[in-house]
Amino acid sequence: MFENLNERLERSFQLLKGHGKITEINIAETLKDVRRALLDADVNFKIAKSFTATVKEKALGQNVLTSLKPNQLMVKIVHDELAELMGGEHVDINIKGNPAVILIAGLQGSGKTTFSGKLANLLKTKRSKNPLLVAGDVYRPAAIDQLHVLGEQIGVPVYSDKDNKNPVKIAEAAIKEAKAKGHDLVIVDTAGRLAVDEEMMKEIEAVKKAINPSEILFVVDSMTGQDAVNTAKEFNDRLDFDGVVLTKLDGDTRGGAALSIRSVVDKPIKFVGTGEKMEALDVFHPARMADRILG
Ligand code: GDP
Repeated sequence: MFENLNERLERSFQLLKGHGKITEINIAETLKDVRRALLDADVNFKIAKSFTATVKEKALGQNVLTSLKPNQLMVKIVHDELAELMGGEHVDINIKGNPAVILIAGLQGSGKTTFSGKLANLLKTKRSKNPLLVAGDVYRPAAIDQLHVLGEQIGVPVYSDKDNKNPVKIAEAAIKEAKAKGHDLVIVDTAGRLAVDEEMMKEIEAVKKAINPSEILFVVDSMTGQDAVNTAKEFNDRLDFDGVVLTKLDGDTRGGAALSIRSVVDKPIKFVGTGEKMEALDVFHPARMADRILG
């Protein structure tokens, strides 16, 4: 569906053979191609525009200092600049306290419950943690059952209380249970709605206040493009979360939302979900996402 940007750049620079130098005039077409590629990948228009301006400046500046051919130079600058905009390096999650508490937030269907299971699995197997999962979605009994199924698959206990409709009380009781049973980590899945609403935000703010998490992760479906960016902003304004989880990156998306979210909320993307299975979780690497956006 998308043309490979490297090929586009090659083509843009065909005319340059023999010259070997980037100029404002011969770079114009290529910059347009870069911008189109970003828009195709669902990067926000304003961000794509300022991005190409930066790339132009860098390209004109670096030109003489390198042995790379202009097309190679452009690909490198675009790639490095994308990775830089997405944070440059991977940022780890903060697991502090005993038990450490991680709060998972996001809209319904974003992949919160699946991610909660994946994260518990990852921290159990890779970091020798002893997690307790908490079913905090008081509105959807199916979500509670779903978490129990996942917990069984990965061998992690799940705290739930179908008779209790107060998510703050549930989270507090779960932490008490974690202490009593020697869990060093509590992962609290929360209720999401189909769209951002005041009641949901108030509820999750109250949960945050009551349990003082060392890490709040906002989960968002990468297939939702620009909506993902708006949702991220609303959640961040209310919760001041610590990191973003981009799910469903195994689908037909180029992941431009990653770039836009990072630019708009200025919080690192920490994980990407790449499937429905419990193992389908990767830590986020800006350079790899840059490759993906470029195609
Ligand atoms: P929640 O409502 O936010 O808790 O979302 P769920 O965890 O129930 O996920 C909604 C749907 O998306 C489920 O069918 C999941 O299996 C699916 N899902 C979650 N994460 C991923 C992912 O990374 N890739 C794919 N392909 N599907 C996912």
